[in-house]
Amino acid sequence: MPLTLDQLNAAPLSEALQMLDGLYEHSPWIAERALAQRPFASLAQLKHAMTRVLDEAGIEPQLALIRAHPELAGKAMVSKTLTAESTNEQTKAGLTNCTPEEFAHIQQLNADYNARFGFPFILAVRGPRGTGLTKAQIIEAFERRVHGHPDFERAECLRNIHRIAEIRLNDKFGFEPVDGRRVWDWQEKLAQHSDPGYAEKGQLTVTYLTDAHRACAQRISHWMKDCGFDEIEIDAVGNVVGRYHPATEGEGFAAGPPQGETRPLGGQRPAQRRSMGAKYLMTGSHYDTVRNGGKYDGRLGIFVPMACVQKLHAAGRRLPFGIEVVGFAEEEGQRYKATFLGSGALTGHFEPAWLDQKDADGITMREAMQHAGLCIDDIPKLQRDPAQYLGFIEVHIEQGPVLNELNLPLGIVTSINGSVRYVGEVIGVASHAGTTPMNRRRDAAAAVAELILCVEQRAAQDGDSVATVGMLQVPNGSINVVPGSCKFSLDMRAPTNAQRDALAQDVLAKLNEICERRGLRHTLEETMRAAAAPSAPEWQARWEAAATALGVPLHRMTSGAGHDAMKLHEIMPQAMLFVRGENSGISHNPLESSTADDMDLAVKAFDHVLHQLTTEAH
Ligand SMILES: [Zn+2]
Repeated sequence: MPLTLDQLNAAPLSEALQMLDGLYEHSPWIAERALAQRPFASLAQLKHAMTRVLDEAGIEPQLALIRAHPELAGKAMVSKTLTAESTNEQTKAGLTNCTPEEFAHIQQLNADYNARFGFPFILAVRGPRGTGLTKAQIIEAFERRVHGHPDFERAECLRNIHRIAEIRLNDKFGFEPVDGRRVWDWQEKLAQHSDPGYAEKGQLTVTYLTDAHRACAQRISHWMKDCGFDEIEIDAVGNVVGRYHPATEGEGFAAGPPQGETRPLGGQRPAQRRSMGAKYLMTGSHYDTVRNGGKYDGRLGIFVPMACVQKLHAAGRRLPFGIEVVGFAEEEGQRYKATFLGSGALTGHFEPAWLDQKDADGITMREAMQHAGLCIDDIPKLQRDPAQYLGFIEVHIEQGPVLNELNLPLGIVTSINGSVRYVGEVIGVASHAGTTPMNRRRDAAAAVAELILCVEQRAAQDGDSVATVGMLQVPNGSINVVPGSCKFSLDMRAPTNAQRDALAQDVLAKLNEICERRGLRHTLEETMRAAAAPSAPEWQARWEAAATALGVPLHRMTSGAGHDAMKLHEIMPQAMLFVRGENSGISHNPLESSTADDMDLAVKAFDHVLHQLTTEAH
């Protein structure tokens, strides 16, 4: 019989401790200290309490815990002295069934890793889905991490230990992240489609209107149909749009299952489906990817609400508002220079001039759209009337290290950063490196170097601004010449336009001051300016209420990257939810990952927002 939280909450300490036995290898003190915080409202809350105990314990107990773990396919496995939990995990991963070569390779990795870090390599071999990594995946992770930084590896081992505990805890409580796995599996299947040149290498690349891109649109639309959406359409720019109708008049909010009709969007809806003038909640994200990107960027935000609609449909439930899930065709700006084509079309900001942009093979966007059978003339009709919508929410993988480092599954986005970009050049005098005394130089590169350090310091001062000099060049530079010119770029981002502008103003003033003091001149050109998109307070509050209801600690954060929500922000209120990424939250990279458990929490959070909106409608 699986345990229940009520049993755990009610049991005397010794019994409760017995229930949590074996979660952390030979370290019952972690569960014991966490149990002091009973009662727990959710497994997520209990999991977090245990991560906090270990965080607060300090480095020595953390190292002791890591060292309490057996090596993968190590001596303890061979001599069968592993704990029952470890035996089970290593057997399932196929580690007890290695070829002699594999076994020798793993032993070498074990030795190298231990020599380098002084503790054994720890990997949650049941992986992000919770059902097991393959032997090849395990060896690949081992080979990669043996080159890690010692501090990072210690933290990464601890994160894997928490993941192992999470899975063991799920087993004890008979909990399976069913919705999270569904979402995880959709992403896995969608990742089978990749552009030529990348597909062969096992890399994921889906750029606007390629065969792989159109295949993705087809699959998403078919899955939407399976989920029970009422209307599904691939629109004039290639967005996949699914609509789940609101409850109709007299139907109540718990009406029977829908008719499963599939009609194109647009035009008048039949009178019998007209509800109490009900609005729609818009949500979604993009299904295109960067080159050699990850499987979750964008797609997670399409599949999480799809999982919610699937459950509503299965239960025969309608809400007092409709749900419109949009798989945006393009966000990443990979094939054409334009970005946010998909969400831009919905906000009425699709520029007809974009149609003449050419890709690397000289194919115009117009030709690509015609080839795909899209009706270019219909693009203006895609513009949405904000009066028909409640607002826009978007779930997205964090694409950064913050949640991963803090051991938090969800993050509440307070604002999508505004940004401004410049390219510039400092001009000095190129002179002989041997004969020009230090106090008589007009060194352009030294001036930019000084600027870079000031930029770093000034952005850090805000706490939540970021600024980067990503391009730096001494044209025609020579080893024996004082740099006469230095070209550079500036990228500055902050959660509000005012904060961004203050940052830019200070940096530009510094540039003037440095050049004046050093006797140099400079040019500077602004190349891009995007407004910040602060979350609508009432929508941010709904995500926060959802996280709180799930027992997940609130963590508010800004989004350093742009998202489709930034475009929708121009016409309706919006707020985003971030989901933790594994591997330090790396993104735009094949190592991008997240767990089925975190995705499951995202589905539950989305469900909860739907629940709040339903309650508010009464
Ligand atoms: Zn994205």
